[in-house]
Amino acid sequence: MNECLRVLPLGGCGEIGMNMTLIQTPGKQTYIVDSGALFPDPSLVGVKVIVPSVAYLEKHAIKPEAWFITHGHEDHIGALPFFYERFRAPIYSTRFTLELIAAKFENYKIKDAELYEWTPYHTTHFSALSVTPFYVNHSIPQATGFFIESPQGNILHMGDFRIDETLPDVHSTTQSIKKVISGKPVHLMLSDSTNSFKEGHDSDEGEIMPELVKSMATHKGALVVTSFSSNIWRLQTVIKTAKKLKRKVFLAGRSLNKNFSIAKDVGILSAEDCHVVEEDLSKISDYSKSEVCLMCTGSQGEIYSGLHNIVFHQLKDFTLSEQDIVVFSARTIPGNEKTIDLILNKLAKIGCQVLYGHQKDEGPIHVSGHGYKQDLEDCIKLARPKNFMPVHGTYRHLKKHAEIAQEAGVQKENCFVIENGMVLGLNNEKAMILESIPSAAGRLYSCAGGLFHSSHPIYKTRLLLSETGLASITLVVQGQGLKTICPPIVITKGVPIATKVLIKEANIALKKIVVISQKKKRKADDETVVQFLRKHIMSTIARECGYKCPVTVVLQRV
Ligand SMILES: [Zn+2]
Repeated sequence: MNECLRVLPLGGCGEIGMNMTLIQTPGKQTYIVDSGALFPDPSLVGVKVIVPSVAYLEKHAIKPEAWFITHGHEDHIGALPFFYERFRAPIYSTRFTLELIAAKFENYKIKDAELYEWTPYHTTHFSALSVTPFYVNHSIPQATGFFIESPQGNILHMGDFRIDETLPDVHSTTQSIKKVISGKPVHLMLSDSTNSFKEGHDSDEGEIMPELVKSMATHKGALVVTSFSSNIWRLQTVIKTAKKLKRKVFLAGRSLNKNFSIAKDVGILSAEDCHVVEEDLSKISDYSKSEVCLMCTGSQGEIYSGLHNIVFHQLKDFTLSEQDIVVFSARTIPGNEKTIDLILNKLAKIGCQVLYGHQKDEGPIHVSGHGYKQDLEDCIKLARPKNFMPVHGTYRHLKKHAEIAQEAGVQKENCFVIENGMVLGLNNEKAMILESIPSAAGRLYSCAGGLFHSSHPIYKTRLLLSETGLASITLVVQGQGLKTICPPIVITKGVPIATKVLIKEANIALKKIVVISQKKKRKADDETVVQFLRKHIMSTIARECGYKCPVTVVLQRV
């Protein structure tokens, strides 16, 4: 099967997040689509972010020809700073996405990245394939899919998408698909499975907030809205709402300010839109609350976010009170319920009116960026792919999406539910699973000090220490015997036991080993002394505290 075009997902097929897929040509050229991150649940102590393992690229010393990035969400660009230096190659994407990547690289001090802006519907030719990006509707501007043409067949990679005729994009996703494939056959379609379990079609962006405008018209308090900072369409919706309500928009949150500035520079937000925004937050005190609309980060309850600051610390020039309305214009990412709950409780104490979750009677306050079943079906019917590979989802999301594809006309035997590390081959319209490479399916944890595999001893030790704490004993002895020149030095971190207990037990252990040595008429070597003390202290902690704790013992001779 050396003549096949190979599609190998390293991430995103088995989870929602960390999307990364390799496209490999028969000539062994490798192109990488997206390089995303996944945010850890709170049980992974010390893990800031999770990224796909690149062991496969390392093992085969692969030098990619290019990176193709569909859009600027973290689950598509969040891993780039970790891998770009090692796998340098030109990065192709739209302007807004490249600006987000450039800002990210600046934070990571990555210099001289080759960033190439490409224009949707214009084909870029590479040595073994051609790629035409096309716009899709999504919750971030300039999101794209790719139409990849090769001698082995044509691939339609949808990226993240929904269908929304009300977004300010040039095209709706369906018009865009028509335009990019323009009658050419689609031999393989890769499509976003995030919402494959949601029936029908979600509300459109344009339906958000009209009801809120009505109810806010006579309201005297401030309107506070929190959403994802990259959702510039939502910022635009809030700006429009504020305009109608004759309110000035203020921004709170670093990433929101950064993304606003990029959207302004790229021209996604018009001068008229930007005019409604007052960038100097300190000027908020110049306005009465009825003239204020405060947009902020923190819809997931994140510490250090704009909303968290406002709710728990209040701003110097702005204090929340019971006359204000706080709108959560975002979905709750599973796992964030507790942090959001902290904010909601504090808001309840302050007495603000809070809109959280879908307000059926008042119109939607948030819509998803990912298509529901109807959208998925419409796109499949339009593209009429010979073969179908669901991506971006847990296994059951992928399986459900494969069923949707069958309902939309794709043959059952041509629907491939592929997990990370499995290779789908495409040749002359025919697709087939070629192999499974378990080592290509791992995850790496980004912790202080670098990237670690979950089985790496450093990560495992950290995880253990977070559960148990650590005790350390240092003995300073004179000459070659075991006569200490000072009491044992005991340091404990996170162990619920008094150090004086451990000092006493260390002295007891020391005496015991002296007695044993005298009986055996043989001096114990240093290693035996260290191990004897370690075991004695470990059993002391187990007896006193009820659990085993790592203990280090140092024997220092002076
Ligand atoms: Zn996305």
